Amino acid sequence: MDPDCLFCNIVSGNIPSTEVYRDDRVMAFLDIVPAAPEHILVIPAQHLTFLRTADESHETLIGHMALMADRIASERGIRDSGYRLTVNQGPDAGQQVDHLHMHLLGGQKLGGVA
Ligand code: 5GP
Ligand code: ZN
Repeated sequence: MDPDCLFCNIVSGNIPSTEVYRDDRVMAFLDIVPAAPEHILVIPAQHLTFLRTADESHETLIGHMALMADRIASERGIRDSGYRLTVNQGPDAGQQVDHLHMHLLGGQKLGGVA
């Protein structure tokens, strides 16, 4: 836990969020500025910043994030209609929060590549 990290504070409950999933490794909550009817952030419970700081010990965790994103998509009724998983890394991708997260987007036809 990094006390200065927004998403660590969401994991700990210090900052409120609309939680949609949690287990011992992963948490998911609604994005505060939704870019689609369904916009959920899937994050590791532990503070992990960028993929470049991850190593083999994180492979299972990152895979678990993707599988839980698919499960959440199913639970929220957007698996069959389709969804997008996005990971922003660094300035050119517009990354705002330095705690690894997957954007799960769906609920409408999504345009473009991002
Ligand atoms: P990034 O641009 O870093 O990939 O995505 C960060 C996301 O976090 C943005 O989509 C932004 O709307 C969301 N976000 C920023 N602050 C908060 C917050 O306090 N609560 C929630 N639920 N989402 C946030
Ligand atoms: Zn963090």
